[in-house]
Amino acid sequence: MYRKLNLILCASVLLFGQAQAQKKPKSTKPNILIIISDDHAFQTIGAYGSSLMPTPGIDRLAKEGAVMQNAFVSNSICGPSRACLLTGKHSAANGFKDNHSKFDASQDIFVRRLQGVGYQTAWIGKWHLETEPQGLDYWEILPGQGHYYNPDFLQMDGSSKRKEGYVTDLTTQAAEEWLETRNEDKPFCLIVGHKATHRVWMPDLQDLGGFDTTTFPLPSNFYDNYENRYAASQQDMSIEKTLRLGYDLKVMQDLDRGRENYTRMNAEQKRVYDRYYQTVEKDFISKNLSGKELTEWKYQRYMRDYLSTAASLDRNIGGLLNYMDKKGLTDNTLVIYLSDQGFYMGEHGWFDKRFMYEESLKTPMLVRYPGVIKPGTVHHEMVMNIDIAPTALELAGLTPSKEIQGKSMLPLFKGIEKKSRDAVYYHYFEFGEHNVIPHFGIRTDRYKLIRFYRGADKWELYDLEKDQKEMKNLIDAPGYAEIQATLVKKLKELTVRFKDVEAEMILDQEGI
Ligand code: CA
Repeated sequence: MYRKLNLILCASVLLFGQAQAQKKPKSTKPNILIIISDDHAFQTIGAYGSSLMPTPGIDRLAKEGAVMQNAFVSNSICGPSRACLLTGKHSAANGFKDNHSKFDASQDIFVRRLQGVGYQTAWIGKWHLETEPQGLDYWEILPGQGHYYNPDFLQMDGSSKRKEGYVTDLTTQAAEEWLETRNEDKPFCLIVGHKATHRVWMPDLQDLGGFDTTTFPLPSNFYDNYENRYAASQQDMSIEKTLRLGYDLKVMQDLDRGRENYTRMNAEQKRVYDRYYQTVEKDFISKNLSGKELTEWKYQRYMRDYLSTAASLDRNIGGLLNYMDKKGLTDNTLVIYLSDQGFYMGEHGWFDKRFMYEESLKTPMLVRYPGVIKPGTVHHEMVMNIDIAPTALELAGLTPSKEIQGKSMLPLFKGIEKKSRDAVYYHYFEFGEHNVIPHFGIRTDRYKLIRFYRGADKWELYDLEKDQKEMKNLIDAPGYAEIQATLVKKLKELTVRFKDVEAEMILDQEGI
């Protein structure tokens, strides 16, 4: 009897063991989720101290992870910023210098290396690198800038799929669909690229008018006269002169209310959208504004459309985080939220980006990695978008190649390192739309040195401790000679280290 029972027990253990062996264990390697938006200003995010609008979705990452208070981009413009993200290199080294470039995706990009160690990789949404994605097991991307309403998504088989709805929702949906169908035995690296909050800020229908009862205070330097800052005086990105009533603010002039985006809407969408903007237009006509009153009306409308567009972005980020909870993915996933650069919300009288001044040099960056990053952490160390590639590589157990110019943020997250870098290097190459003169420079924790070229040979120096708004150019100012000399030397050193030949030549010609 005893022997018989023993045999049954042995057989059961054997059978159970076989069943276990047949079911492969799920991956224990950490997953990586990167959400990258477009032109999203940190000044509008609660976790960065903003009270302009509620941002519970993004703020959740700050509560459960870390907010990077000093996260910077290498080149403040759409396509080049994504190239920096993928390569971990500055624009001069990865070759994608301005929005007219084409990205060479055959170079060493971190997603390809992750594939090599068993990661499933995907990019969904805005790509904007002009070449076909590589190093990805799956991609579904918006062509070029994409559209807010009923956008096309390019598919891997070369076809294009038009999807009905609002782009931010559709991008999140596509991301969740891919997560549903992925191979759960492998870790994943998913990059979700949002079109929002890019110009021309077309909100989701449900968010129209969400801020109409709010009057936003003008930034203290809204009426900047650009004294002693030549490049700033030459730009064409002001709310007063550049922002267009029809194209941007959807009233008067170009009655198409957002141009090609508007023509994609279906009849019902147009009905709701038109009803809203017709009311705005009627009110605008009745006011008969001019001068400062007109400029300030434009500012209020810009803020309202921008923040309404951002409302959907935040809701969708919150939604994706909820999805991660439901699927049990939260604990084993590093989540990074960032924008491709910052944006002006009326500071210096501007919208847009490009300049090395704080509002566009800085990007929001929030990071959650349960078990490693303590909830509610605030980091003040200077990190960059080129740090994401080496961070992802290190997380996957890989060593970043020597060509990578960014620095893994993992030691910072783990508390092993206290400091990331002593200076941020920046180079904006494009000289076209918005007439921003090309420039390069460095930012330390206190100072910023900028060298403009091509459109003008000018230097600027700022003491950020005394002048956070960057209104007083201190180049050659008394009392700053020593710090200026140190910064110029450091700038030269970084142009050489990062193989930025163009910048190095300019300094060489000046005998630096
Ligand atoms: Ca952008």
